[in-house]
Amino acid sequence: MFNKNKDKNKDTPNGTEASKEFNERVSRLLVVCLDGICQLIPQKEALYSALKNLGDVVRKVTRPKPLSGMGKDIEDFFKRQILENSFRETKNQSVKQIVLDLTETIQQISSVTGDFDHKMEASMENIQSASTIEDILAVKEGVMQEIGKIRVRSQAIKSELNEYKRTTQSLSSKLEETEAKALVDSLTNVLNRNAYNMKITQMIREFGQSKEYFCLLVLDIDHFKKFNDTYGHKAGDRVLRSVAASVQDSLRASDLVFRYGGEEFVVILNGIQEDVAFKLAEKIRKGVEREYFVDKDQKLKVTISLGVACVKEGESEVELFERADKAMYVAKRKGRNQVEAAE
Ligand code: GH3
Ligand code: MG
Ligand code: MG
Repeated sequence: MFNKNKDKNKDTPNGTEASKEFNERVSRLLVVCLDGICQLIPQKEALYSALKNLGDVVRKVTRPKPLSGMGKDIEDFFKRQILENSFRETKNQSVKQIVLDLTETIQQISSVTGDFDHKMEASMENIQSASTIEDILAVKEGVMQEIGKIRVRSQAIKSELNEYKRTTQSLSSKLEETEAKALVDSLTNVLNRNAYNMKITQMIREFGQSKEYFCLLVLDIDHFKKFNDTYGHKAGDRVLRSVAASVQDSLRASDLVFRYGGEEFVVILNGIQEDVAFKLAEKIRKGVEREYFVDKDQKLKVTISLGVACVKEGESEVELFERADKAMYVAKRKGRNQVEAAE
């Protein structure tokens, strides 16, 4: 830690030591901020190379200390921002799909009422070409106005309309929920369950259209309740963070890790067959088994159990999850700290 002894001024050897240490810590903070900002701005911006060069210079002239305290908080903040950014396209796709479903429902109402409006067709085209949430929401506004008009014109067939109205209302509130929710879990810095729901819906849809193959891992920490009871909830939280980081470290950049809830995580492995998915699951398991952290001079370790399931033709996201989850419970029953493939 930074030396706070008042007798040591900068002219004494110890004073120089203290100011050197201070410089190293400040330069580490600066490097973290510069690296974080660099990852958030486009590489073609002039500011990007200026900040990157400055970071390289600072790294060269001082040897920055490892991160702790505020430095770690700043690094975590940037990690979350970068993950949110990388997931923006999925979020856009999700919002787009909800608005498309909404538009289709309105088209069905229109055909029932004999009141089909070409504006709805235009809305569908606009939504396909929209690239930002703002564009998508602008189309949504138009669609919602159409609902209003159709409601006025469709007195005669109220019962059918009510049925559709319920659907559009639930789609509309789902849309609002999707817009508002965060995507990154603040404890572990991996994607959260909301992000998982969006991504898996998108991947099942894409598998139906273009057969983009993928596998799902469900993993759960073994005897975690006992761990919490023995070492405390805070130590448990640190384990959750370290398991999330270890899982992420075992994977390729194209794979996605989500905290599904509590001490349960889900991994989506893109474009691989079941045998490779099984090997990756085993690599994750071993990675967590090797990991430990020191708390009050004790080496604390946990293990995980995993279930593997790869997507099948015609399967829903719920069915796929259930197969992976069941396999994970088989791994638990067989003694934990192992991988089990779904049937
Ligand atoms: P099993 O091997 O069968 O999975 O046993 P388990 O004890 O891990 O399973 P159980 O579902 O009984 O307990 C899960 C525990 O996870 C209970 C809860 O205290 C703990 N847990 C869930 N979320 C958190 C969290 O955010 N932080 C901490 N520290 N603990 C959590
Ligand atoms: Mg558990
Ligand atoms: Mg559990």
